[in-house]
Amino acid sequence: MPDSSKIEKFGESIQGDIIQPGDSNYDESRKIWNAMIDKKPSLIVQVANADDVSAAIKFAKENKLEITIRGAGHNIAGNCICDDGLMIDFSMMKKVQVSPDKKTAIVQPGATLKDFDAETQKYGLATPVGINSTTGIAGLTLGGGFGWLTRKYGFTVDNLLSAEVVTVDGVKLKASEKENNDLFWAIRGGGGNFGVVTEFEFKLHEVGPEILAGLVVFPFKQANSVLKKYRDFVTTTSPEFSAWVVMRKAPPLPFLAEDIHGKEVLVIAIFAPSDFDNGEKLIEKIRGFGDPVGEHVGKMPYVNWQQAFDPLLVPSARNYWKSHNLKELKDEALDLMTGYLGKLPSPQFEILIIYLEGKTNSVPVDAMAYSNRDLKFIVNVHGRWDDAKQDKECIDWAREFFNATSKYASTGAYVNFMTDDEQERVAKAYGTNYNKLVDIKKKYDPNNLLKYNQNIKPN
Ligand SMILES: Cc1cc2nc3c(=O)[nH]c(=O)nc-3n(C[C@H](O)[C@H](O)[C@H](O)COP(=O)(O)OP(=O)(O)OC[C@H]3O[C@@H](n4cnc5c(N)ncnc54)[C@H](O)[C@@H]3O)c2cc1C
Repeated sequence: MPDSSKIEKFGESIQGDIIQPGDSNYDESRKIWNAMIDKKPSLIVQVANADDVSAAIKFAKENKLEITIRGAGHNIAGNCICDDGLMIDFSMMKKVQVSPDKKTAIVQPGATLKDFDAETQKYGLATPVGINSTTGIAGLTLGGGFGWLTRKYGFTVDNLLSAEVVTVDGVKLKASEKENNDLFWAIRGGGGNFGVVTEFEFKLHEVGPEILAGLVVFPFKQANSVLKKYRDFVTTTSPEFSAWVVMRKAPPLPFLAEDIHGKEVLVIAIFAPSDFDNGEKLIEKIRGFGDPVGEHVGKMPYVNWQQAFDPLLVPSARNYWKSHNLKELKDEALDLMTGYLGKLPSPQFEILIIYLEGKTNSVPVDAMAYSNRDLKFIVNVHGRWDDAKQDKECIDWAREFFNATSKYASTGAYVNFMTDDEQERVAKAYGTNYNKLVDIKKKYDPNNLLKYNQNIKPN
């Protein structure tokens, strides 16, 4: 820990703020989304611009402090913070500037998806981002990024036009197809391994402001047959339409009868950004998969749908997630999953099946670091509970589900859903792109100063 006069001098040299143990806002500032992570950094640097980032890196190196980077602090692994280190915190840099004529947006790395959607939707524009609006645009983009618009427009990285990056030498670089294109290739999926991103530029598409979306809920006893009908149906739909499955105990939603609350249900979440007539017809088919116990479907503002899952994903719970990519959903895999639905260990646990086939499958594997272009489905177990006494039971349950379903998975993996005990999966996640990532890591961060991430080691 550097002495107080050095810290004071450093604090005076930057535009942003520094926060240290003992400061009244220290505990609040070190809180992140996953309540299992309780780390105590020596210094939190709330940067105000790229020069502050350069100064923070220099200070950390001079004082032998490990560096972590916080976008919006959502990553399950908790890599944005470490004990005794220096956290570069972007919570003061949240600006989103839209150019409606060019259909682009310049976004600072502290912006959440809510900040992003709010600003882009003023112009009826959007790009694919995740489904929980408190997630950070930075971590989401750097690991890949998918959401309701992915079938139509690809992953978030497929829509990244350029970025400004501060390297571990404190140098500010532009990364795009034209400038430092190796760096641009690497940050589109390679996470926070190569530098600190201080600005993103995205391509935008016309979306909304109104879309058609909602939930159709089926009882547990029909889950298995509904799931098979869902699989057969969804794979025939066009990328104009998305439908994902959530299996969990029913939360007390106002459109569900009270006797359903707390019971296992299968929910089909539906999204149609346009062609509402066709969307209505497809939703009618989904209703016919069984006897729904409730539904909430209709036209609504895109931003409302983007926040629809927020109440189920608030911070302060303990979380342990596991995820597989899949090319197909075999009957026996679905039998296994619905079997697990019958024995969830907490009311907040979810098994999520995400169908993403579409634009992403047409991008060449070597176009950028993100490489899982054969994926059609992602299956997640969202382990989520409140009481620390349940840690072992819930973590074991999530691991058991993951292991049991492994044989149906394809080779890749999504780094943004990895926990901190999954480092051995990182190389597998990148497949044939991994060696190139190692070479680029050697060039931009040969001493692995940026190691708090899904780490690509330089040697
Ligand atoms: C409730 C929930 C819902 C989710 N939903 C989706 C979803 O729908 N789609 C999806 O694709 N993902 C989803 N995710 C995963 C999400 O994309 C990752 O957790 C992502 O890392 C979050 O970004 P963040 O900036 O908030 O994270 P942080 O924890 O702040 O950062 C994560 C890591 O990103 C790197 N990083 C962050 N900022 C920078 C920067 N400026 N420069 C360099 N590196 C940086 C660092 O290595 C850091 O450790 C979800 C996660 C949660 C918890």
